[in-house]
Amino acid sequence: MKALAWMGKNKVEMVEVSKPKIMEPRDVILKITGSTVCGSDLHLLHGTVVELQKGDILGHEFCGVVDEVGSEVTKFKKGQRVVASFQIACGDCYYCKQKLSSQCEKTNSNTIENAMYGGRTAGMFGYSHFTGGFAGGQSEYTRVPYGDVNLLPLPDNVPDEAGLYLSDVLCTSWHAVVDTGVKKGDVVAIWGAGPIGQMAADFSLINGASRVIMIDQNWRLEYVKERYPNIDTLDFSALSKGESVTSKLKEMCNNRGPDVSIECAAGEYAKGWAHYFEMMLGLETDTSELINEMITSTRNFGRCGITGVYVGFTNHFNIGSLMERGIRLIGNGQAPVHLYWESLLKMIQDKQIDPLKMVSHRVRLEDLDKVYYKFEDKADGMQKVFVET
Ligand code: NAD
Ligand code: ZN
Ligand code: ZN
Repeated sequence: MKALAWMGKNKVEMVEVSKPKIMEPRDVILKITGSTVCGSDLHLLHGTVVELQKGDILGHEFCGVVDEVGSEVTKFKKGQRVVASFQIACGDCYYCKQKLSSQCEKTNSNTIENAMYGGRTAGMFGYSHFTGGFAGGQSEYTRVPYGDVNLLPLPDNVPDEAGLYLSDVLCTSWHAVVDTGVKKGDVVAIWGAGPIGQMAADFSLINGASRVIMIDQNWRLEYVKERYPNIDTLDFSALSKGESVTSKLKEMCNNRGPDVSIECAAGEYAKGWAHYFEMMLGLETDTSELINEMITSTRNFGRCGITGVYVGFTNHFNIGSLMERGIRLIGNGQAPVHLYWESLLKMIQDKQIDPLKMVSHRVRLEDLDKVYYKFEDKADGMQKVFVET
């Protein structure tokens, strides 16, 4: 079968590999019908997520049709249309019982050392050996462990193009908004106008925000202006001399700043474990400019959430502004998909949200390697793609 594999730093390739087989009684083999590329895949492309191995099959957002089921699968049968969660949860452990599935204790290597050196999450599809080395769904077939837990049936009135985004984007954006505590009347600033930021903006308004300001540059903001007329924008590349995102946001928000700020960009990320030792030895320092910008922009006693993916360590952190002004900084974590996907499916069915607003391109699986590079350059107005398989 065809699959998209990571072949080294900044290199992905379409490869021919054998079709996956049932390995455990709770496995489902899924025939993929749709997948997509996520901002997180760029962290993989860049090789900034550690423990990638040449030939790793990528893709953590996909939907499809059940092809084969293991002997202990009870909820699904061949031919059923489903969407997969990007994280692999066991369904039975301490966190899974609370549907905090991104922290599943069975598929997670959460040792004390891992927590100290930057933390890990549950197993994830197509996300390197850092999260378990599970093959991804940018392929014709994939193996879904704990199929009863990690697949959600798609009703006939929800097409693949809409249902697919329940695997990650919709759950992530909704989680960013509720976890950071957006409430009625809040002014919300969102860094990064990619699909995650766009849906977080939409969800903030649904949750009662009085105003949403998106920070990004150029065409991404044009896309937002066209499709989300109720959202204000701030182009960080068009600031005049002496202006900063922080000063502009204060100006736009009663000289105080937004009540809530959410990072959906990951302007800098992923230094890896080795970096920890480099810092300890005083060999390197780095900055977390975007996080500092978010902290200094937010009004006193406001809340900041980090949804953009960071791995490892950072330095030059503005702890003074955080402490003295009472900023609540929240790591939103990898979003626990299982907590939200059923209610979000209902929101799609009720037409409360329209995930198709994010989708700019439809492509075929065999062209996916080229799509990665376009997505990376943000060329061709590429936003969110639907990969037909
Ligand atoms: P994307 O790459 O499509 O969009 C990111 C946007 O951020 C781009 O438009 C870019 O121009 C903008 N940006 C970069 N630096 C910026 C800065 N300094 N200020 C403002 N904007 C800036 O990505 P996406 O698919 O929308 O995902 C966004 C982030 O969310 C990524 O880091 C991704 O890894 C992360 N993510 C997190 C989870 C989770 O569960 N926590 C899940 C999915 C994605
Ligand atoms: Zn994703
Ligand atoms: Zn679990």
